[in-house]
Amino acid sequence: MLIVMNHNAGKKQIEAVIKAVERMGFSAAPIPGSERTAIGVLGNKGYVDDSTVRTLPGVQEVIHVSKPYKLVSRDFHPRNTIIKVGGVEIGAGKRPVVMAGPCAVESEEQILKTARAVKAAGADMLRGGAFKPRTGPHTFQGMGEEGLKLLALASRETGLPFVTEVMSPDTVGLVADYADMLQVGARNMQNFELLKELGKIRKPVLLKRGMSATIEELLAAAEYMLAEGNSGVILCERGIRTFETATRNTLDLAVVPLIKEMSHLPILIDPSHATGRRSLVPAIAKAALMAGADGIMLEVHPEPEKALSDGPQSLTLQGFEKLMEEIRKLLDFLGYQQAAGS
Ligand code: PEP
Ligand code: MN
Repeated sequence: MLIVMNHNAGKKQIEAVIKAVERMGFSAAPIPGSERTAIGVLGNKGYVDDSTVRTLPGVQEVIHVSKPYKLVSRDFHPRNTIIKVGGVEIGAGKRPVVMAGPCAVESEEQILKTARAVKAAGADMLRGGAFKPRTGPHTFQGMGEEGLKLLALASRETGLPFVTEVMSPDTVGLVADYADMLQVGARNMQNFELLKELGKIRKPVLLKRGMSATIEELLAAAEYMLAEGNSGVILCERGIRTFETATRNTLDLAVVPLIKEMSHLPILIDPSHATGRRSLVPAIAKAALMAGADGIMLEVHPEPEKALSDGPQSLTLQGFEKLMEEIRKLLDFLGYQQAAGS
């Protein structure tokens, strides 16, 4: 960290900053310049909280050299991480995976019908929410544990591992008892107590980018789990909120190659929440794979017009089957090998 002083900062102000740095347990190296003095902070092993020095008299700017994340960074861990979910391998240039299923589990019939159809069409994993983070309290909130049981049933029958959302630290154990991978939704990306709890389990976690989170904040959120010992984290871009309202969110596709430069963790794209519209999903799904995403997550429903959540962005079973045919051709064209056992 480098503390840049104002050009008119006096000796006393510089000394006060040096003392503050030393009180934090680091050493301070003043670098006098022709216009101003800068003070280098030495001895820190990672990111330093600058709140005690940033507001001291005479301080103009604090420049961070270390990032608020380390374990997730490529500098620290140059090789790509492969995450195993059930028998499915994700990341490190493996053939991208497709996770598909309804936004929410609504009934045994609905989840079984969807699971069978997505399996037949070639999906690698099943998705479905049992605990739903809805914007308002008067809409369907999910089936809870009953929904987890139905997901487990559909998973057993089809052989597809499943991912489902967990919303609170006290239900991590319950959801982990059923799910192959736990999802942190966009609204909970910075629920730090939840992230810490997920860091303690040994099941993979799908971390979705918050709707107004920067890439650095996404990586710092993932760091919480790695710091607690869970290195099985997959990132997911699902669109962010911008001034544009024609689509539900604005997909930030550059995240895919950018995350690959910054981190060793796999990155997925969720075209359903990114667009909010069924008609846009196939093009965005293929664009994500072209950009190098390690997989995509798609909402699929047997009767989207009757869905209790996210019907307008859910593909029909036929729509999903058609898209999967196109995806298969695209992935073959891009030279991805078939996953072992498929
Ligand atoms: C979901 O996957 O159904 C969901 C709620 O997504 P997000 O958290 O990205 O809005
Ligand atoms: Mn949804």
